[in-house]
Amino acid sequence: MRQRKNRVWQWFGTNHENNRSHLLKSQRGRKITNLPHRSAAIIGAGIGGLATAIALAQTGWHVRVFERRPALEAVGAGIQMSPNACKVLKSLGVLDTLLPTTFAPQAIEMRMGLSGRQVFSLPLKDVAKTRWGGPYVHVHRGDLLTCLLDRAQAMAEITIVVNANATQVHQNPNPTVQFADGSKVTSDLVVVADGMNSTLASQVVPASAPQFSGCIAWRTTIPMDQLNNAPPPTACAWVGPGKHAVTTRIRGGTMANFVGIVETKERAPESWRHTGDRAQALADFAGWDACLVEILTKAPDLFCWSLMERAPLVKWGQGAVTLLGDAAHPMLPSMAQGAAAALEDGVALAACLVGADVPKAIAKFQRYRQPRAARVQAMSAANLKLFHRRSWITQLGTYGPAALAAAINPNLLHRRQDWVYGHDPLGV
Ligand SMILES: Cc1cc2nc3c(=O)[nH]c(=O)nc-3n(C[C@H](O)[C@H](O)[C@H](O)COP(=O)(O)OP(=O)(O)OC[C@H]3O[C@@H](n4cnc5c(N)ncnc54)[C@H](O)[C@@H]3O)c2cc1C
Repeated sequence: MRQRKNRVWQWFGTNHENNRSHLLKSQRGRKITNLPHRSAAIIGAGIGGLATAIALAQTGWHVRVFERRPALEAVGAGIQMSPNACKVLKSLGVLDTLLPTTFAPQAIEMRMGLSGRQVFSLPLKDVAKTRWGGPYVHVHRGDLLTCLLDRAQAMAEITIVVNANATQVHQNPNPTVQFADGSKVTSDLVVVADGMNSTLASQVVPASAPQFSGCIAWRTTIPMDQLNNAPPPTACAWVGPGKHAVTTRIRGGTMANFVGIVETKERAPESWRHTGDRAQALADFAGWDACLVEILTKAPDLFCWSLMERAPLVKWGQGAVTLLGDAAHPMLPSMAQGAAAALEDGVALAACLVGADVPKAIAKFQRYRQPRAARVQAMSAANLKLFHRRSWITQLGTYGPAALAAAINPNLLHRRQDWVYGHDPLGV
């Protein structure tokens, strides 16, 4: 990602633009800062935090985004942007910039991991726009973050502050965030978008820490021209007893993306940046289709982390403080909806706030978003079990009807996706 000197500020930096320096000086001096207009403080510059910042700025808010990392890095691997997510990206003004970096899969496919035999293939590329109102694309998370950052940094209403590790949130007398260096910021609205391992969620609502799901995830990317056995040009789930893999293509089809989910009692670190042991990855997928084994053999890095989950929260917010994204609804990746849900949250929150009192808008936001997010969380967990069927009898009972439906009447399977992909995130 290119250098972002203009509008990304180091918490303790010294070379700030003069017209903005009043904010940082007062933060360093442990004073409480107020902005002249309706102001929002967002904790976390991930996909959820940045989308929310843009959506709020588009409706007239002054927004500061606080990120604990020292720099905004475009890290991650492939994520899927389904039509519901693309509709949000369009409304945020980033879809057109993002699309050239993406890959549109021809179909959603299921294959048996060991034999490689296709269970079903459901047309996607041509159906997505007509049926669900937006494209279905595979994206590098870094490219998506770059587009969101570029958009946010082009907006005068948004300031992004890095090296800002939020440690406390409270709302008496005003919504206030406290940082590790002791400084404080107060604003009319606080959005906690600090991700899966949120340290702030339990300060806002009764929230237990996410629990280990019993699965670890492997992820990697590799240039396609290094592979003899290319993964198919689809969103392909490779299923098998106690594990599954998903292959996609990203960056215009020039890179292959691999995610492998394995049931295990051995926890991995909960970090997206932890490098795993290649021998272990190869053992996990030993004997699986040649294209998967080749990716695991040749990929430059293999990241490995524990998948966490938490029962849906009943409450997401209180007063003028709300959770959003993974902090509110951590979900397993088996519906590829984590980033999409965070994007949907951002625009929905902004829409609820238009012309409304902040606590009332937060209550409305929760009423609107919580049931849908809880349903996606539950279906993601159910999908994972479905992909991991162990015996041939349960596999036949589960995959047989899907194969039959895809062959005879694909519309039946498309219809089952309508509530996810056809959702209008702006229709609050
Ligand atoms: C480094 C990284 C790599 C990822 N890679 C993938 C991937 O390859 N594939 C995939 O499907 N999903 C990936 N994800 C997850 C995916 O981006 C999220 O599930 C989804 O987008 C929801 O976004 P979010 O904004 O709620 O949370 P996140 O994207 O997790 O963003 C949360 C942000 O909050 C910041 N933060 C946390 N605590 C604090 C604090 N106390 N103070 C200030 N800031 C804080 C974090 O540094 C992070 O930038 C990744 C997430 C991260 C952080």
